[in-house]
Amino acid sequence: MKQKTITRPVSCSGIGLHTGENSKITFKPAPENTGVIFERVDIESRPRIPAIVDYVDSVIRGTTIGKDGVRIHTVEHLLAALAGTGIDNVIIEMEGNEIPACDGSSNFFVKAIEEAGIKEQNAEREEAVLTEPLSYEENGVHFLVLPNDNLKISFHIEYQNPLVGCQFESIDINVENFRKLIAEARTFAFLDEVEGLKKSGLIKGGSLENAVVFGEGKILNSDPLRSNKEPVRHKILDLLGDIQLLGMPMRAHIISFKSGHPSNINLVRKIRKHLENRGGLVGPGIPTRRREASPVVTPWQMVMGVNQIMDKMPHRYPFLMVDRIIEFEAEKRVVGIKNVSINEYFFQGHFPGHPIMPGVLIVEAMGQTGGLLLMNSVPETENKVVYFMSLNKIKFRKPVFPGDQLRMVLEMIKFRHNICKMKGRSYVGEDLVAEAEMTAMIVDRDRLPKQNT
Ligand code: ZN
Repeated sequence: MKQKTITRPVSCSGIGLHTGENSKITFKPAPENTGVIFERVDIESRPRIPAIVDYVDSVIRGTTIGKDGVRIHTVEHLLAALAGTGIDNVIIEMEGNEIPACDGSSNFFVKAIEEAGIKEQNAEREEAVLTEPLSYEENGVHFLVLPNDNLKISFHIEYQNPLVGCQFESIDINVENFRKLIAEARTFAFLDEVEGLKKSGLIKGGSLENAVVFGEGKILNSDPLRSNKEPVRHKILDLLGDIQLLGMPMRAHIISFKSGHPSNINLVRKIRKHLENRGGLVGPGIPTRRREASPVVTPWQMVMGVNQIMDKMPHRYPFLMVDRIIEFEAEKRVVGIKNVSINEYFFQGHFPGHPIMPGVLIVEAMGQTGGLLLMNSVPETENKVVYFMSLNKIKFRKPVFPGDQLRMVLEMIKFRHNICKMKGRSYVGEDLVAEAEMTAMIVDRDRLPKQNT
């Protein structure tokens, strides 16, 4: 997916929820790989603060970022709007120190972004991709983060006030769902905590115009809730805004039990560290890079090692063409890898002085990987072998050289009566190097034809 920015500048203004001060913000288009940057144009040196978790300064009833004593309060609803509309690069000029509360939701920001127009850029978007589950808990808050093709947030809340009580919501985060279900969900507070918040110097700008207030047995606002799940959806909005501080979009299913800004931010820090330790994090200002299209196979990523592969397969050196299985879904899909070194026997003759991997061996590697998918999808495999019956639509797209890591992705198209049709694709990095359709049969070992002796 390509990076996006806005087409032209757009402004909006209003008072901040906590400081009660008026401020004006202007969204400005930004070049590729800029990320989201706040710029205090009301200060002479025009200090800039990137919207990444390293600059989080306070998490009390909202997320504040700061640098060298300059702050921007309550960034989460605006960041959620950027995440929800898929904006990667934007400069947000600020006159004032808090993002306007508007109606307590992300609606105004979404409208402003839509008014400005969204423009695709040339560079590919870089994303944080989680490859293994991660959990985190603190003070009764629990998170579970699971690998997933896209960002999805599931959220459970529990409040004593029966008007909110227990709520659960689970939403695939995409532009449509964000607009329809999340963007208009407003901030909420409970009447019995309002006094305390005011005493601690918060919600100076709070009013029934920018927050839902739940009293005893009734809502104080004259307009009704925008949906009966508005509170939990607002919590999803807040979490989405906080996750944006990772510095790039994320692909994962995040399940939250009762989290708020402090725990959200701790989770983002944890995810960041987790990905960095594994050399997998990308984004403006973050050193290591990773593209979605070329998943880096990490040393700990393994479903089957070579010994388990040899338990299932009769192939041995020099004809075993799979080193490891890194993904497996029975009867559906398998991903294997083969590290191609200069020591491969075939490079000696193919060709001297110009070593490239023979295309038929790439097909063999796909076949062996597909065989493992089959063998792991049927019972009693000890007495069975996989026979290939046909190969179709074979294409060799790019050469494979010593040092390349071949990634074979096999998907089952059909599986009936021990006969299976699969689509195979091989990649080096993000490049498709070969593809083929293959049909295979599982045969009992003792029914194999024998050679005459
Ligand atoms: Zn909020």
